[in-house]
Amino acid sequence: MLLPPRITALRGIRLDDTPGLHDVLIHDDGLIGSIEPASDAPVGATEIDGRGLLALPGLVNAHAHVDKSWWGLPWQSYGGEGGTDGRIRHERARRDELGIPGVEVTRRVLAELVRHGTTGLRTHVDVDLGIGLRGIDVVREALADYGDALTSEIVAFPQDGVLRRPGTIELLAEAAAAGVEHIGGLDPAGIDRDPVGQLDAIMAIAADHGTGIDIHLHDGGELGTFQFDLILDRTESLGLQGRVTIAHGFAIAQTDAARRRDLLQRMAGLDVSMTTVAPLRLPQLPLHEFDAAGVRFAFGTDGIRDLWSPYGTGDLLGIAWQYARSAGLVRDEDLRRVVALAGAAASPFVGAETAGLAAGERADIVLIDAENAMDALVRTPPREVVIGGGHPVHRA
Ligand SMILES: [Zn+2]
Repeated sequence: MLLPPRITALRGIRLDDTPGLHDVLIHDDGLIGSIEPASDAPVGATEIDGRGLLALPGLVNAHAHVDKSWWGLPWQSYGGEGGTDGRIRHERARRDELGIPGVEVTRRVLAELVRHGTTGLRTHVDVDLGIGLRGIDVVREALADYGDALTSEIVAFPQDGVLRRPGTIELLAEAAAAGVEHIGGLDPAGIDRDPVGQLDAIMAIAADHGTGIDIHLHDGGELGTFQFDLILDRTESLGLQGRVTIAHGFAIAQTDAARRRDLLQRMAGLDVSMTTVAPLRLPQLPLHEFDAAGVRFAFGTDGIRDLWSPYGTGDLLGIAWQYARSAGLVRDEDLRRVVALAGAAASPFVGAETAGLAAGERADIVLIDAENAMDALVRTPPREVVIGGGHPVHRA
């Protein structure tokens, strides 16, 4: 893909919080210069006519797997056994014939995420004894197409387990030395059957190399909350404050309110964050409790159309909709908060902290035919224009 040159202005857009039409002027460094009442001068060649569409900050997909979708390939029937370990075995048996990981298929997934408004991405990339670090090279090559239009971070993800596959720890350390932003993990109890061992090993790599930790934790109930404790203990003892994310973490929504309050208080103190893909069959992370405690969380699409599940469209706003609807959120302030969590509020998860649509911030902007943020969330209309760092990366 040839990255389209930056535009100099987005003319005649509407903002969620200020009445009237506005122009967004964009500097040649990709930052917003100013936002002003719309002028009626004709739209120039390096400008885009905003047609009165609503402008929202670019969407942030804080949990994706862009390395292992079969998006764009013929339909693949769901097969193999269920459960995390069954899916792992099935994926390893079939990924080679599907060309996973591959640059072209990763490009198609990225295009689909961007088309839906994603301008910030944190993606897990499989690292295991079969493919080594090849997936990371593939994802980096595909991401390079977007230059500075897309902000991104990579998690080296031991999908096949850590301690149960000797040699994986060394691969993760190699990935850290090669510059990935985060070291992943997977159900230290459920998969490795050694929660202390896995967490000691991966969190030591993060401490040694200055990376973050972003761990998949599906284990539910008491087993899950016990592993929250272990993660928090090590975050504190290794000085990893502000660098640890727990993905899924179903257990925190399943445990009782008092236990959750204690965990959230401790997470806030250590700035441990979470990501959710808003699973339909499980309780959602309680928005008000997280906000009251000051614990950050963000949304992700997870993998789309892969050997784990035929579902997923790559629409992060669709995940936010799924979250809000299944959490029973209906009030304006809550719907607006969910839209914020899908955008600028999640920017720390991709290493590009922004306050959203304001002078001096990155020009990451989505234009959508909606009345306001609430309307955009409940209807999730198509994204008309997507601007990443000033580059028009998608136009309907
Ligand atoms: Zn995942």
